[in-house]
Amino acid sequence: MIITVQKFGGTSVSDEQSRRHVLRHIVREHKTGHGLVVVVSAMGRRGEPYATDTLLDLIRDNGNTLAAREKDLLLSCGELISAATLTSVLCAEGIPAVALTGGQAGIITDASFGAARILDVQSQAILQHLSEGRVVVVAGFQGKTEDGEITTLGRGGSDTSATALGAALNAAVVDIFTDVDGILTADPRVVSDARPLSVVSYEEICNMAYNGAKVIHPRAVEIAMKAGVPVRVRSTFSDGEGTLVTRSETVRSRPGWTDRTVTGLAHVQGVTQLSVVTEDGPYDLQLRVFHAMAANGISVDLINVMPNAVHYTVKEIDSPKAIGLLRELGFEPRVRENCAKVSVIGGGMNGEPGVMAKIVGALTNQQIRILQSADSNTTIWVLVSGGDMAAALQALHAEFGLHLESYGGGMGS
Ligand code: ADP
Ligand code: ASP
Ligand code: MG
Repeated sequence: MIITVQKFGGTSVSDEQSRRHVLRHIVREHKTGHGLVVVVSAMGRRGEPYATDTLLDLIRDNGNTLAAREKDLLLSCGELISAATLTSVLCAEGIPAVALTGGQAGIITDASFGAARILDVQSQAILQHLSEGRVVVVAGFQGKTEDGEITTLGRGGSDTSATALGAALNAAVVDIFTDVDGILTADPRVVSDARPLSVVSYEEICNMAYNGAKVIHPRAVEIAMKAGVPVRVRSTFSDGEGTLVTRSETVRSRPGWTDRTVTGLAHVQGVTQLSVVTEDGPYDLQLRVFHAMAANGISVDLINVMPNAVHYTVKEIDSPKAIGLLRELGFEPRVRENCAKVSVIGGGMNGEPGVMAKIVGALTNQQIRILQSADSNTTIWVLVSGGDMAAALQALHAEFGLHLESYGGGMGS
């Protein structure tokens, strides 16, 4: 049996009107006779009654007294309500459907409540329902441990549920339906002329996602990549094809493909830059600094190491702890708060001369200071002040021509 997985995000299932759009996509797929597994997120965004953030607000005033296990019980409810509600829509339309919790769907995780990793997908129950002609609606973002404890997979984790099920069921495709037309060249909330890409490689979108592009969870892409399952990111509210995420060889073999140096931009806000500079520093300066960070569970990024200095960034939330640790070591760090990391990403920039020159040129033209930078063969990162972030993204987007219809890889190319 050919199996398709469709995942609908929070805004796609938030109200009756949006659920009619969801229904349209489900009906169309159901009519093909393919087995259909539908993964849903909790309904809506913060403030709407059953959204994940609204559930979190219920316990906000109690500090962190609720254990992670119980917090997961609470958070899992959003997706359960959503799955049962959508199933009622399908049944009312005469489409045989069944709703399953993540655990009932066979998603087995470790016991890291709040950020559980999927260990196994036991797909017998789903296959049984599919063989009996039902659409299977699965509550995303959750699983269960071997002992039957309910877990959640980390924010944005319904994407991960979808690709994990797609991989286990050897699905023909996993469709991630959301509120934009696909993967765009930048976050449309910051760059208004960002354009949807017709095709990107797993590596490129994984890179974009890890660097802040919220459109799909990076773990979800990793799972799809490992299994070789194609993913499409598309809009619930249109019939557009969206963006196909596939192997880079497939990307390059598509008709009309023109090589592109830069595929897209991503950004992360709320970053603090820490610099430890010493005149005649201890020979083990770097070792002491990074050991202290690691021992205290502080993740570091954008690391520049020099003989008498280290520069790196931490998340804003970790910065007071990181500064305290450095002081305990006898260092007085220079602290730059409210920075943003802007990433310029493209599988085609490897070995391509002049990319950094273009970045520096575009930012200098706008009088934007680069506070730090780093690069890999597919990404160049620049740290800028938070206030400069939007202007930096807009300038880089224009510099690389990402807004142009003719852009190699834009829709329909
Ligand atoms: P869902 O609830 O459907 O999972 P998300 O809010 O998690 O939706 O992801 C979709 C949002 O991701 C879009 O509304 C958009 O603002 C944001 N986004 C950030 N970067 C990108 C990008 N490069 N392409 C598309 N959307 C992006
Ligand atoms: N509802 C969860 C969240 O808001 C999971 C998801 O939407 O993917 O993080
Ligand atoms: Mg999401």
